[in-house]
Amino acid sequence: MLIDLHNDVAMKLLSHGVSLFRSGGKLHIDAEKIRKSRPDALFCACYSDPNFLGEDAMEVVRAQIRILRENFGHPESPAEIALSFGDLDRISSAGKTAAILTVEGGYAIRDRLEPLEELFRHGVRLLTLTHSMATDWAGSDADQPGRGLTTFGEKVIAKLNELGIIVDVAHASTETQLAAARCSRAPIVYSHGGVRSLVASSRSIADEAIRAIAEKGGVIAMSFYPPHLMKSPELDPVWLNRVMKKMQIVVEDPSVSQLEKFKCLARMFEEEQPPDNPHAGLGVLADNFDHVIELVGDDFVALGSDYDGIPYTCTRIEDLSKIRRIADYLRSRGYSDGRIEKICGLNAKRVIEAVLR
Ligand SMILES: [Zn+2]
Repeated sequence: MLIDLHNDVAMKLLSHGVSLFRSGGKLHIDAEKIRKSRPDALFCACYSDPNFLGEDAMEVVRAQIRILRENFGHPESPAEIALSFGDLDRISSAGKTAAILTVEGGYAIRDRLEPLEELFRHGVRLLTLTHSMATDWAGSDADQPGRGLTTFGEKVIAKLNELGIIVDVAHASTETQLAAARCSRAPIVYSHGGVRSLVASSRSIADEAIRAIAEKGGVIAMSFYPPHLMKSPELDPVWLNRVMKKMQIVVEDPSVSQLEKFKCLARMFEEEQPPDNPHAGLGVLADNFDHVIELVGDDFVALGSDYDGIPYTCTRIEDLSKIRRIADYLRSRGYSDGRIEKICGLNAKRVIEAVLR
């Protein structure tokens, strides 16, 4: 069983104007790479950039849903969109990959629950509550780490539970993660990041939140991006300032449509990388697995690559075609076959079965 809980391939398809079949070698995930690694399920995110709110956010999400539908609906597609656990079972038994649509960032919601119904109708089956900015109803760890869920935020969780959409607390503040675990009636997930005891950043999860998610029967999925998994140098303030200014100019340009702005920001996000990012092998990924296992056992760890949302990965798993090397590495590190199966897919499958009806 192989399930990856997070990728951003939709953003790449849109911003580069390419397809899974003609990717120009630009993508971590394409049709050939899916065929090679044959995952049972890939969670494909539609990235909701926090600079776009309400209907503007919905527009960029819809554009990514359309592009995923076109690609996965292609007659030669090795993957097919799954709407339920039954779909996943049927698609993976037929030797194909189930693509599960997700939205990364609840910025379309504002103060209304109706957008959630629309997303569900479009086939979305997981919502990452926030990205790098808080919403009115949930704190992001990047900008408002002290804030949790408001009463309306609790209603969002209840609506997600009612619809059968998985609640994802990656990027959210610890307060939001704990509150979501407390009020959700279904298991919740942390879809991509590292553990805070190894790397103190807004992209890592604290032990108390790991415990709360595990108690709920959810999973904590590790990304493949070294800066999420190990100590990195502080971001250079001069670099950060320059990038923020460049982004602001795009955001405030009245002559460009929202969708063009989104594509431009996505390409900028890809091009502008911090200069001293650390590189690492699979050992740091396994260190993060080990920490979660020591804390809560091996039933709650999973994979959340962040392919096509990160500029580079741990060595040896540079794109989806190489993802099965993780199992080989974990075996060499002394993990049992049973434990490897759980991390690489069975744990995530349990959550899908519990939430996607
Ligand atoms: Zn992310």
